[in-house]
Amino acid sequence: SAGDLGHKLGWEVYAVGGFVRDILLGRPNFDLDLVVEGDGIEFARKFASLSGGRVKAHSKFKTAVVILDDGQRVDVATARLEYYEYPAALPTVELSSIKMDLYRRDFTVNALALRINPGRFGQLVDFFGAERDIRNRTIRVLHSLSFVEDPTRILRAIRFERRFDFQIGGQTMRLIKNALNLELFSKLSGTRVMHELQWIMNEEDPLACFIRMQELGIMAAIHPLLKLTKDKVQILTELGKVHNWYKLLYLEPEITSWKLYILGMTMGIKREDIGQVTTRLHFTRKEEKDFKQLRDMIGDALMKLMGWREGKSKLSRLYSILHPIPVEGILFLMARSRKEHIRRNISQYLARLRYVKIDVDGKDLLNLGIEPGPIYTIILDRLMRAKIDGHVETREEQLEMAIK
Ligand code: ATP
Repeated sequence: SAGDLGHKLGWEVYAVGGFVRDILLGRPNFDLDLVVEGDGIEFARKFASLSGGRVKAHSKFKTAVVILDDGQRVDVATARLEYYEYPAALPTVELSSIKMDLYRRDFTVNALALRINPGRFGQLVDFFGAERDIRNRTIRVLHSLSFVEDPTRILRAIRFERRFDFQIGGQTMRLIKNALNLELFSKLSGTRVMHELQWIMNEEDPLACFIRMQELGIMAAIHPLLKLTKDKVQILTELGKVHNWYKLLYLEPEITSWKLYILGMTMGIKREDIGQVTTRLHFTRKEEKDFKQLRDMIGDALMKLMGWREGKSKLSRLYSILHPIPVEGILFLMARSRKEHIRRNISQYLARLRYVKIDVDGKDLLNLGIEPGPIYTIILDRLMRAKIDGHVETREEQLEMAIK
């Protein structure tokens, strides 16, 4: 094991961070983070060759990732032993090790280590009262400059608070408000804000985090247009529900959570203003283009869906409205629709209609003696609609229809 290897190399090895926190909380966590008091990269290489895995090393940060054959990832970091070289051949002084490594972390609950070397296996290393904070369900920073050092920790605090149903501690909350008064947030780069927002949108209940952010004025601090309105809260509630529904069905493709929730967060923002938000959040050109296009597609589909009547309108019509839209947009339409029958039919589309395939292709058309050209698309398209509407079933019926 990793502990035995550490012992052989004479280095202390610790499991740290979320992994240890989640053990104490009794929650599953498969992301193992190790810290080695020694050379993390060398450790990772030896560990990988013993257990049959691959290593990706970042020599600049003295970190490595070991990817085991079963896909399990183990992150390995080096407890940076920082030495002070004294002049005149005085001894080199070791200033920091696991304690300094833990001190650099965001919250006490994440600043726990667990010894894994044999003999000391399972010993908790807790310099900052982490165990007590986990017991009291409190999110607490390690020192008062924490949020000045890194304002994204404010979003992390909210994320962990909501995820574990903890409370941000009193002093920590004062430090957050201080940081907000200093407008540290407005100076934070869009890339970093977006990165943390994406983590939030991957949580079970992103809306709970958004509401907390709103209470603290963080939404407006990121950008005034991001303030949560009643409409946004409502759509985000519905988006959470349809997202869960979709996840339970294990449908393909998987949803990119942020592409879904960002639609709710920006609902009601005018077309000409949306660029302010994408610029603030530092979308790439492509992300911005796709996002604007998706919003337009949704607007267009909403209009068309208004005229769609169950029983009266054709299913193939629904198919052509929804088919060009990425699945995040379709879920948004579902969340957005007030009419029960529209929601039901969109869910039918996602669960079944979109997978419908016809049993005839271009080769068949060629064999039927039809001259190749744009007419192929038209024919195949018509066959698809006929199949969706139940006018043709078998391949024979489809071939027959193709020549008509
Ligand atoms: P999750 O369950 O969301 O993966 P985690 O605690 O494992 O939670 P990561 O974002 O994977 O969180 O980070 C790993 C560790 O790195 C954390 O436990 C934390 O101690 C530390 N860390 C991450 N981001 C920061 C930060 N901005 N400032 C300080 N420490 C951080």
